[in-house]
Amino acid sequence: MNVTVVGTGYVGLVTGACLASLGHSVVCVDIDESKIERLKRGEIPFYEPDLAEIVKDSIESERLSFTLSLREVMKDSEVVFIAVGTPPQPNGASDLQYVYAVAEEIGNTISKYTVIINKSTVPVGTVAEVARIISKSYNGDFDVVSNPEFLREGSAVKDFMEPDRIVVGTDSMKAQKIVKQLYSSIDTNFLMVDSATAEMTKYASNAFLATKISFINEIANVCEEVGADVTKVAEGMGMDPRIGKSFLNAGIGYGGSCFPKDVRALRFIAKDNNYDFKLLRSVIEVNNDQKWRFYSKIKETLTSLKGKKLAVWGLTFKPNTDDMREAVSVEVIKKLEQEGAVVSAYDPEGMEFARNLLSKSVTLTKDKYSCLENADALIIFTEWNEFKDVDWTKVLESMKSNYVFDGRNMYDPSDIKSNGINYFSIGR
Ligand code: NAD
Repeated sequence: MNVTVVGTGYVGLVTGACLASLGHSVVCVDIDESKIERLKRGEIPFYEPDLAEIVKDSIESERLSFTLSLREVMKDSEVVFIAVGTPPQPNGASDLQYVYAVAEEIGNTISKYTVIINKSTVPVGTVAEVARIISKSYNGDFDVVSNPEFLREGSAVKDFMEPDRIVVGTDSMKAQKIVKQLYSSIDTNFLMVDSATAEMTKYASNAFLATKISFINEIANVCEEVGADVTKVAEGMGMDPRIGKSFLNAGIGYGGSCFPKDVRALRFIAKDNNYDFKLLRSVIEVNNDQKWRFYSKIKETLTSLKGKKLAVWGLTFKPNTDDMREAVSVEVIKKLEQEGAVVSAYDPEGMEFARNLLSKSVTLTKDKYSCLENADALIIFTEWNEFKDVDWTKVLESMKSNYVFDGRNMYDPSDIKSNGINYFSIGR
């Protein structure tokens, strides 16, 4: 099928490249000129494992191309995806201006029956509003479908190709058939629902996962008081299939471009409809407190932060991505610096985006060991694989002191202590 994907971010580019590799003819559109130029050269503007290969292969087989002009490709498109950002507004509501701008453009350029598929995470009613905007300038036949995306950065290609489910929200049988045909080579469960239900399913899923994280973080905080080990508690809980073992890793709270904004947006949607979603208020509060608990642990242990040299491993909001949006590291590092600490940091992929978010006084180093020189403490924000395998003798040779604050419970406490490290983690 002839497919257009509007927005070449983490979701749009993965969608476009994967659909091309499944045999569709795909054009990806973006308004960001430098991004389109880079993509035309086969360069991926962000880090996502396995994506570069399928983009390169799909360009070579002429099934994937890039343009700045939606108008140019609209007449040949059978399906148009909307995969632009829906960032949070200060009150928590999603900012839908980018989605609506694409809808306007589709309305001005559509000339035959086309299925518009919205992949951006949007509040209930957005698909209906997109349809209304298009019909202001076009009175022919078209359908707008909600098809929320559940991929995770870091494993986005696999998640797209082998999804747990594909949720399709539309009342149009004609559009349903086309969407099923589009995804026919993906073997998974299809959930056919109305668009409001599909839109709500995405928020409910992310809010539930965030709730699990805040729940285990509170359990960790109680574990610290009573002398239990949260990692073992989580293991015991996860053995119950009704609970499941995923998303039970205690740490410094969730960040990233989705959970914080989607939880806040769902709370706003509820409030806007006269419902106070009390549970989500706590999920947000616990998540916010969790990073400051970690910060306090560092500050209290080191007595004063003034003039302390702190080494940081991991800046991105999670491993296997370069995404720094709402990364916990940024806020905590800022506070550490305000209290007089001198920070050097290393991240395997996030340094380019981190440079724009951290103050100029943070020294970014070329590897994990050079970051440690003369450090009073090592702080771990992200559980990258390369931090699992550590030569602790080398670490202690570089550092001035032996404090390690691990926000992701990466190491076995007795192992690391036997290496002479003064170790602090979460809920153990
Ligand atoms: P992103 O910020 O990485 O990419 C958005 C892209 O859209 C940018 O390249 C931007 O230039 C482009 N854009 C904006 N307006 C445009 C326009 N009028 N025409 C063409 N391009 C335009 O965003 P993302 O992380 O890919 O997220 C996109 C949506 O998918 C969001 O609603 C997000 O919540 C949702 N989502 C994201 C993830 C994720 O892990 N990132 C997962 C599931 C769902």
